[in-house]
Amino acid sequence: MHPNPNLIADRPTFVTHLECSLTGERYAADELHGLSRAGRPLLVRYDLDGVGAALPRPLLEGRPTDLWRWRELLPVRHPRSIVSLGEIETPLVPIPASAGASVLVKDEGRLPTGSFKARGLVMAVAMARELGVTRIAMPTNGNAGAALAAYASRCGIETIILAPQETPEVNIREIAAQGARVYRVNGQIDECGAIVGRGAAEGRWFDFSTLKEPYRIEGKKTMGLELAAQLGWRLPDAIFYPTGGGTGLIGMWKAFAELEALGWIGPERPRMYAVQAAGCAPIVRAFEAGVEHAGRWEDAHTVAAGIRVPKAVGDFLILRAVRESGGRALAVGDPAILRAVDECARTDGLLLCPEGGATLAAYREALRTGEVDADEQVVLFNCATGLKYPLPPAGATLDKDVPIDLAAL
Ligand SMILES: *Cc1c(COP(=O)(O)O)cnc(C)c1O
Repeated sequence: MHPNPNLIADRPTFVTHLECSLTGERYAADELHGLSRAGRPLLVRYDLDGVGAALPRPLLEGRPTDLWRWRELLPVRHPRSIVSLGEIETPLVPIPASAGASVLVKDEGRLPTGSFKARGLVMAVAMARELGVTRIAMPTNGNAGAALAAYASRCGIETIILAPQETPEVNIREIAAQGARVYRVNGQIDECGAIVGRGAAEGRWFDFSTLKEPYRIEGKKTMGLELAAQLGWRLPDAIFYPTGGGTGLIGMWKAFAELEALGWIGPERPRMYAVQAAGCAPIVRAFEAGVEHAGRWEDAHTVAAGIRVPKAVGDFLILRAVRESGGRALAVGDPAILRAVDECARTDGLLLCPEGGATLAAYREALRTGEVDADEQVVLFNCATGLKYPLPPAGATLDKDVPIDLAAL
């Protein structure tokens, strides 16, 4: 038996079908799917009455608090398909000095491979394995490739990873160390994605690009489920989410709808703030223009590699969730991002990744403009450990062989 009681075999599952996020067209469960025929992401649908009957809330609350406690709301049919590296519930950490008393950081850097990409990829790999996939390719800005490499290598699935030239060195090495073949490409992530798409069309591999397979959203959805449980089945007033492909924002929005259908939360929703970098802000531009789809952002650049996504296939889903929630899409510049990372580490002792720093910078700006009030409960998402990114140089030297002025240290 598996040492984690959440991974025992005798639990029913509730997926009924998949559905095109644009047209609503139905697709059969338990078959391998990419995008819908309309070229849009597929969403997984469940028999939520069945889930409610099988999983009364007290039963859920009695389980260990990892990602797999939500199994009835997840797509995997057989626990033997799951390759787990220990997907823990991530903590909500206050950062009173840099943001004030009403702000919590959901620190996703504690997950396997140091980022929340583990939530999406542990699910997508389990489903790929369940559906017989043996070779996967993916474009990545770093963290997704690392998570895919880890889970896929562990169960013998071969992986080919394409990353933009400017991907941080540590990510490239991490991906290679975890058993993938990784290539730097002289282009942006969507251009890497185009190459992956060509190979998939030739039948060389399965395409794991963001939202081009249906199950990463389901893994990312657990951020919303977890947040509700951690806050006692209430949601915060506002969520600030660093938005690249938008999987997490779309996933949380889906989680809230499923929790409401179960009767576990009411109709209230947080205002969702999609945070982007000023050097790559296609969703912000589309939000402000009032349009449903976002055009490609040319000459994308930012220190926050995870949100350097010039074109997102789920653009309309991000924009819909943000608008329905009464939130906004916000852009912050690299200097503000780096200042926020620096201040949070120096004063609150929490080393954010640059993408997490972007949410803190955006929160402060929103506070300044009156978009949020200081007493509203806010959750910022820090989606990777700050240790995966280049840090500013530091460290003077001491000569142990000469007298040391200890009072001056
Ligand atoms: C991928 C990534 C993001 C963006 O996540 P999406 O859900 O794809 O928008 C944000 N921060 C970090 C650290 C990431 O790796």
